[in-house]
Amino acid sequence: MIPFVSPLAQYQAHRSEIRAAIDRVLDSGWYILGESVSQFEHAFADWTGMPHAVGVGNGTDSLVLALLAAGVGPGDEVITVSHTAVATVSAVATTGATPVLVDVCPQRYTLAPALLEAAYSPRTKAVIAVHLYGQPADLAAIQTFTQRHGLLLIEDCAQAHGARWQGQRVGSVGDLSCFSFYPTKNLGAIGDGGLVACRDPQRFERLQLLRQYGWKQRYISDMHGLNTRLDELQAAILLAKLPCLDADNAARRARAQRYRERLQGLPLQLPPDVADCEAVYHLFVIQLDDRDGLQAALKEAGIQSLVHYPVPVHQQPAYQATQRLPQPLPVTERLARRVLSLPMFPELPLEQVDEVADAIHRFFAA
Ligand SMILES: *Cc1c(COP(=O)(O)O)cnc(C)c1O
Repeated sequence: MIPFVSPLAQYQAHRSEIRAAIDRVLDSGWYILGESVSQFEHAFADWTGMPHAVGVGNGTDSLVLALLAAGVGPGDEVITVSHTAVATVSAVATTGATPVLVDVCPQRYTLAPALLEAAYSPRTKAVIAVHLYGQPADLAAIQTFTQRHGLLLIEDCAQAHGARWQGQRVGSVGDLSCFSFYPTKNLGAIGDGGLVACRDPQRFERLQLLRQYGWKQRYISDMHGLNTRLDELQAAILLAKLPCLDADNAARRARAQRYRERLQGLPLQLPPDVADCEAVYHLFVIQLDDRDGLQAALKEAGIQSLVHYPVPVHQQPAYQATQRLPQPLPVTERLARRVLSLPMFPELPLEQVDEVADAIHRFFAA
């Protein structure tokens, strides 16, 4: 069987550093908001290229806190995409703001900047650009729009730790950027974790308060806050794994390159390869007409594959009443019918990439 992802292979690859980090935390007797969280926040901020970072409970909460720190709330609108993990839209709804969902561009599968002007209203407060599948969004054009209207740009980097846009890492371009450390993400914890990075020192202070009951001083809430803390164990594990992230991303790119070589010429569309961007292949996503047929054939051959995502957020029951859709979303709806994610993780043997490619060749030859 060829698995789609393998958090176990990740753990085994970093076993001794992870176990040493866990032991250090256990022996320290300090398990919430201590040295490990603060060291990881500094290390990750440096690595990403943002001045400040706040560790939180998960990626969804990182988006909620970024929006709250930006002052987003009921009556406001936030423009983002429907072609994303539901968490992006769920976070907007959690603040009481209205998600305004626009289509993606067929070149990158990320927010189509040309549609932003038509989605704008006087209530618009922020734009969330999602670097989906590890592919940087078109930040130049999106930033032109946010700057013209004085809006905040939030980057959802949950699938793109370390991806580069014009040489710069994603998450260092917007006003705030959000990360998830769910075990299968490019940087994964052994459980849940997330982080918000930001540029502005006042927003940094707000984020720290929002993370823990609005406390500046213990037991005194200066503002309404949540409880969403990155814990010491996860922070220590992430700190131990961070030095390997560039190598892990390079391993993903090598597997993507192998897929490209082995799949070229077939009647399917390979992932975007955009000039001036370096993708980190959180997922390796192909497009084809008979997606369901290929998925069934791969399953028959013992190869796991997944669809990201089968039902676009704008068609899901939960958001029918809250969302605003300025325009139809034909590219999003077409992608939902055609995308298929192939096995992809840094430890995936190249021979297994070849086996997947061989199975796809057999499918088209049949
Ligand atoms: C995983 C993910 C999130 C949410 O992260 P969690 O840690 O699972 O809450 C948000 N946005 C995108 C694009 C994601 O892939």
